[in-house]
Amino acid sequence: MSSPPFSHVVLSSHPGTGGSVHAPEIRWGAATAAERGPVVATLTDPRRRNAIGTHAGAYALYRALAVASGALDRDHRPDFTDTAPAAGIGPHPQWAEPGNIVSLDPWGHLVPEVFAAQIAAGLDLRPTIAVTRAHINMPELKDAIVKGRLTPDGAILHANGDVRVTKAAIDPVWWLPGIAARFKVREAALRRALFEQTGGMFPELVTRPDLKVFLPPIGGMTLYFFGDVAQLGRPETRVACRVHDECNGSDVFGSDICTCRPYLAHGIEVCIEMAQQGGVGLVVYNRKEGRALGEVTKFLVYNARKRQAGGDRAETYFERTECVAGVQDMRFQELMPDVFHWLGITRIDRWASMSHMKLGALTQAGIEVVEQVAIPDDLIPSDARVEMDAKKAAGYFSHDTPSEEELALPKGRGLEE
Ligand SMILES: [Zn+2]
Repeated sequence: MSSPPFSHVVLSSHPGTGGSVHAPEIRWGAATAAERGPVVATLTDPRRRNAIGTHAGAYALYRALAVASGALDRDHRPDFTDTAPAAGIGPHPQWAEPGNIVSLDPWGHLVPEVFAAQIAAGLDLRPTIAVTRAHINMPELKDAIVKGRLTPDGAILHANGDVRVTKAAIDPVWWLPGIAARFKVREAALRRALFEQTGGMFPELVTRPDLKVFLPPIGGMTLYFFGDVAQLGRPETRVACRVHDECNGSDVFGSDICTCRPYLAHGIEVCIEMAQQGGVGLVVYNRKEGRALGEVTKFLVYNARKRQAGGDRAETYFERTECVAGVQDMRFQELMPDVFHWLGITRIDRWASMSHMKLGALTQAGIEVVEQVAIPDDLIPSDARVEMDAKKAAGYFSHDTPSEEELALPKGRGLEE
């Protein structure tokens, strides 16, 4: 048994005790990085922190295990050599419009560059966004080539199905007054709920109203860009987009109870087409598993749906979720448009989604959607008909709305099939 040496615990839960006197000021929404100031959420010097929570979202808990077990030095500082973004993003005018971006740090990918002087002076700062390049390959895209829906061009799409992409990983950074305003609640009420629902994990939420920035311990998002990222933010650039909320069972393992992976693959197809026409395609992949209810709740609901009297059918699709979770959905699209403001996007020419909630959130944020693209029927697996019909009946975008008789018909497989 060995443990790393610990000094006394420094609490930053009250102003002055941990001491915020040395912490840089954050002016959220300022036009330049210098005026905005760095977000200090590292733990090396508690007196210089100006944010609640810490980096890496839920992975902070693994870091704690690494420190506790002695595998990681608690004072480790990253070496940022050669880690700069593989493509330039921003700054865009939207970064300086108050209230536009409240759930991510627009300067997050540029931290080592724009705050180089502070880092050199000893401040421990970390990027909350990273931008790199990759090739992706999905069997559905090869199938689209075989069926003639996609044509390889040797640059964006190769004959073997490889697609060149730029991708960005984004950790959430919440500006609490802006989050409260977005949800039309008082900041104090928001802070209290965050404090209580995390089991009191972040006392500063209630004891430090002077700290306005919170790095929540949740998953963020990954962006996949098709085409030239530098074209974004120009009014003439045509943009195709799918905003996709994580569904591990379907996205990764091809589970056929929902339409998630088919929709993702179709969205990527629409994005590749747009890039080949000189525009930019964008897939926003949000870590909001199971409508942000998590997989345990999701699997409980699957059982409840398939075991109910009358079988798995569209008319009880949302009801069965609500019985288990208390709500039908916790994704809250209110924060979703932030990423478009970050990218300087004011218009989406082709929008590969049927969700009226996502569309409503974009419109609310002043982002124009020109054309909504529905998924072709032949890409929907048969067990997922229950989900598709339920969503159409609830107001999701489609060219046909199922009748009441149609919704009452059991269509999903039984549990033992
Ligand atoms: Zn799914």
